[in-house]
Amino acid sequence: MKHGVAILGATGSIGKSALDVIERHPDRFRVVALTAHSSVSALVALCARVRPDFAVIADPARESALREGLAAAGLPTECLGGAAALSSAVTAPGVDTVIAAIVGAAGLVPTLAAARAGHRILLANKEAIVCAGGLLMDAVRTGEAQLLPLDSEHSAIHQCLAGTAGTRGGVRRLILTASGGPFRTRTELSEVTPEQACAHPNWVMGRKISVDSATLMNKGLEVIEASWLFGFAPANIDVVVHPQSVVHSMVEFVDGSVLAQLGTPDMRTPLAYALAFPERVASGSDTLDFLALGALTFEAPDYARFPCLRLAYDALRAGPAACVWLNAANEMAVDAFLARRLSFLGIARVIEATLEQAPLQAPHSIDEVLQGDASARRKAGALIERSA
Ligand code: NAD
Ligand code: MG
Repeated sequence: MKHGVAILGATGSIGKSALDVIERHPDRFRVVALTAHSSVSALVALCARVRPDFAVIADPARESALREGLAAAGLPTECLGGAAALSSAVTAPGVDTVIAAIVGAAGLVPTLAAARAGHRILLANKEAIVCAGGLLMDAVRTGEAQLLPLDSEHSAIHQCLAGTAGTRGGVRRLILTASGGPFRTRTELSEVTPEQACAHPNWVMGRKISVDSATLMNKGLEVIEASWLFGFAPANIDVVVHPQSVVHSMVEFVDGSVLAQLGTPDMRTPLAYALAFPERVASGSDTLDFLALGALTFEAPDYARFPCLRLAYDALRAGPAACVWLNAANEMAVDAFLARRLSFLGIARVIEATLEQAPLQAPHSIDEVLQGDASARRKAGALIERSA
């Protein structure tokens, strides 16, 4: 039987790569639902291409434009608008697989809906697990859902842990690799522009994650993500900078053995892995040419030039409320940086100052997560205004 797939964030970088892999395997997958934030024309074009049953535009003001666009293209796709409709897309009849590829905490509620519905969730939306790791993992367990990572590092670790039969006792540590981003060797960071920050050396990605890669907050969010996905304490998760982005991450065992997963930097590999798990299917990515590769190098992350990585470790140690605040402050600061209202170095400063006001009490429900997220955004917004 074919799997019915809903793609949250279909018009983004991950969404497009997901469609590329899915279209290679029409015998296995059928796209049932697609969602986007506000880009009606891009969503209509995708609907014309894969003919889903449902389409959702999160911006409610664009619902009528979407309806008209679908009608003008002669498509019978049912459509809805508004953030609440994102959850309808994942619970639409025929969906059993959800690709969570919205950027930011905005993806949390529909990802939880997918967990409660017992679906296979392919998680790219790391902000959702950073904000609500415990609640999301609980929902996956009680909903009898399955959570598979799409982040290349976590996909690598998932593959390296495959032989441990679910026992984590023999693992000494997880080693996440980081490319180091576009400023790995740059010492002066005060004049950095959004264009420079978004020019990643190895990956083409959405703007928010590109800035996160430049500040190393992306790796910080990934440390938190790894701790929830695989159940490891921060002391057992290390980061090593590996500029070639060929070793996607590693697992070290107590006997001294280290397993690594390698591949060209292409998100279609983790997508194909998670889509077909436990089988393997073609992804369209290039084979790794070892002779052309030359050297693989490793170096320590520079916590002084990239304080966001330390802030993320601090938040993970401080607890779930701090992680909500870290993520919200980062989303606000990155938005402001992209809009040229905040300097590159201001990003870490805003996050650090926001975190100082974070509560200690862990959120017990999604409502409490969303309230914490809103409070942190208010504090960060005020700090950004003051720094302008
Ligand atoms: P992107 O900006 O290219 O795409 C984001 C998608 O989310 C778009 O379809 C957009 O319409 C939708 N969206 C944005 N805001 C929304 C909102 N408020 N409500 C509903 N939909 C909204 O981003 P991306 O690079 O594809 O990244 C998506 C997620 O995947 C992020 O969490 C990112 O950290 C993660 N990720 C991306 C990559 C990559 O290579 N791009 C790798 C690993 C993880
Ligand atoms: Mg990653």
